[in-house]
Amino acid sequence: MPKRRSKYASENLIRKHAENLLIWIEETGNIPWTKPFDISGDWGPKNVTTGKHYTSLFNNLSLTAMMHISADRTKKSIDPRFFQLADARKKDIITKEKLSKDEPGLRKFKSVMIFYPMSNSTIVDNKDFDPAKPEGPDNMREKKRSFFTGKYGVGQVINVNDTTAVEDGIVEPLEVYLSGQEKKNPVIEDLQNICDSFPHEDKITMGIPSYNHVTKVTKIPEMKFAKSSEGYYSTVVHERAHQIGDMIGELKHDRTKKQYSFEELIAEMTASCVFGHCGFSEMPEHENSIAYIKSWVKNLKDDPMVLFKAAEKAKRRAKYLIEGFVPEKKIVNREDFPFLRGV
Ligand SMILES: [Zn+2]
Repeated sequence: MPKRRSKYASENLIRKHAENLLIWIEETGNIPWTKPFDISGDWGPKNVTTGKHYTSLFNNLSLTAMMHISADRTKKSIDPRFFQLADARKKDIITKEKLSKDEPGLRKFKSVMIFYPMSNSTIVDNKDFDPAKPEGPDNMREKKRSFFTGKYGVGQVINVNDTTAVEDGIVEPLEVYLSGQEKKNPVIEDLQNICDSFPHEDKITMGIPSYNHVTKVTKIPEMKFAKSSEGYYSTVVHERAHQIGDMIGELKHDRTKKQYSFEELIAEMTASCVFGHCGFSEMPEHENSIAYIKSWVKNLKDDPMVLFKAAEKAKRRAKYLIEGFVPEKKIVNREDFPFLRGV
């Protein structure tokens, strides 16, 4: 069990961690959210102790950073497996902690903090339950509903590369582990379905893709002008993320530079979540250059918590996009969105 801390202490830890993550991004030029993220828990960073994959986007950001750092300093391949630090110690797994304190980006990254939103849950009657149909995962009489308590639990993990677990035969070698992983094959039609089935109004443009919050129209260049189909859909997902932001009242219309960076970051992370969900392990070559992304990072530096907030918002927007709808109560001024008529 992760050690419980007060909400305040956890927030300080998250802030410190986000700060370190931004320093690492600046020092190494690696941008973890330009990789797809698995939010459904099928692949990606995994907890060896519980056998589960990490699904929180912020944890995924941190863990991806840690995977790269560990691989760099141990000169081994990137290993997606992590031990809970306390558990590694309990099992006498030797952690390689004799590391240079001055290695760039490493100082505070010897192990990674992970954050669990603490929730309470209750069982409620499912109003959609159909007694005429057999009970099953799609037709359940009762459903569990979880409520976020506003608190975070904190745990510490260490990458398998930073332990002697493979040498000691405690976990299988990386190649063996990876060959046994069943990863969904990326399917471009999945991306297409997600983009097409979400209520929208698109217009073909010759110019830069954009979402207009006044007309609610998304301008997208013709697919033949995109470098690849993946590139085309990464643009569509990005713009849909802005549209959803507008639908749920998160899109600021008179944006400052900082708010602009924040919104772009959310849209980028949303695309990473949707690509990860569709089984892609790489993002298509990006329209936005690394230098452009770096300028957002610079804008974020005075408030590193935005990294955490953006990750949370991106995961929510990706979920709406994947599920094909935004709950009624989240849509602000439904009549403003002409394409929602009859939906
Ligand atoms: Zn954008």
